[in-house]
Amino acid sequence: MNVLVLNCGSSSATFAVIDPAVPREHVSGIAQRLGQPEASLDWKIDGVKQSRTIAGAGHDAALREVVALLRELGLADGLLGVGHRVVHGGAKFSGSMAITPEVLAKVEECIPLGPLHNPSNLLGIRIAQELFPGKLQVAVFDTAFHQTMPPVAFTYPVPYEWLDAHGVRRYGFHGTSHRFVARQALSLAGLPEADHALVTAHLGNGCSCTAVRNGHSVDTTMGLTPLEGVMMGTRSGSVDPAIIGHVAGALGQPEKKILDALNKQSGLLGVSGLSNDMRTVEEAASNGHVRARLALDIFCYVLAKAIAALVVPLGRLDALVFTGGIGENS
Ligand code: ADP
Repeated sequence: MNVLVLNCGSSSATFAVIDPAVPREHVSGIAQRLGQPEASLDWKIDGVKQSRTIAGAGHDAALREVVALLRELGLADGLLGVGHRVVHGGAKFSGSMAITPEVLAKVEECIPLGPLHNPSNLLGIRIAQELFPGKLQVAVFDTAFHQTMPPVAFTYPVPYEWLDAHGVRRYGFHGTSHRFVARQALSLAGLPEADHALVTAHLGNGCSCTAVRNGHSVDTTMGLTPLEGVMMGTRSGSVDPAIIGHVAGALGQPEKKILDALNKQSGLLGVSGLSNDMRTVEEAASNGHVRARLALDIFCYVLAKAIAALVVPLGRLDALVFTGGIGENS
């Protein structure tokens, strides 16, 4: 039986219809540039891409277009349910949850922790509940896999009251990816389920590494937000937090703007000055572009240090697992 999976972001929504039993992907696609005249619905079936314009469509209209497409493809009926990616589940969820009013309320309570993602994730859930009344809807959290981290790994050395009062701790992200590739690696490498030590490196536009001991996340590089950790496409990863006040003062700009630059204008893009896309950076570096070479060198250096550090909680390393666009290809 098929499942519709939805990842509803602020300006785009990705979707796929999957038969998890095979597993087989019937269709996957993205509704993007939502709310703009150039909004489009792009999808792929068996590697063949198609597209239609959905000018001006917001989330609601775009998801209606997705459902219309699924009807045309004969995939709308007989769905088992809808799976929603929810980025921040705080410390409230340690696994996927069937969505109930109580679960929705808890996801809402996590908005201060995931202000960039949770509101659009919630919007996607609400629209899907309307479009598929009575169908099972499930929330799958980026943070859930990391709820097994011990206090020594998730507690920041900051005033302890911040933890209880404001939820300031390491949560970690990309949990669905880390969990999936760790399991795949186990079977590929023939490692015992009850005794293994892996580091998984998810290297896409966002990048994070996780130490996996016997199927459980024991530490990870991302933190309260997906800004911490290794260098990424546009995110700096870990830097001295005093940079924010220093640069805000020097530029006479609000600290929020500097934080925004650490999220959106840093990483590969910030150092190379060219692109957040690893392919572009690699090509420029091989053509002698000095800052592209430096960006690539820092990326690899920071990543190697992070992987080495994750051997501390593991005590040993049986396998190192790479995934994401960069991890798979570069
Ligand atoms: P997202 O996090 O958005 O899902 P992906 O997992 O698709 O992103 O990863 C995107 C990154 O993968 C980009 O930096 C892109 O340049 C990189 N990438 C994709 N293909 C290659 C390749 N052949 N060689 C190097 N990098 C690649």
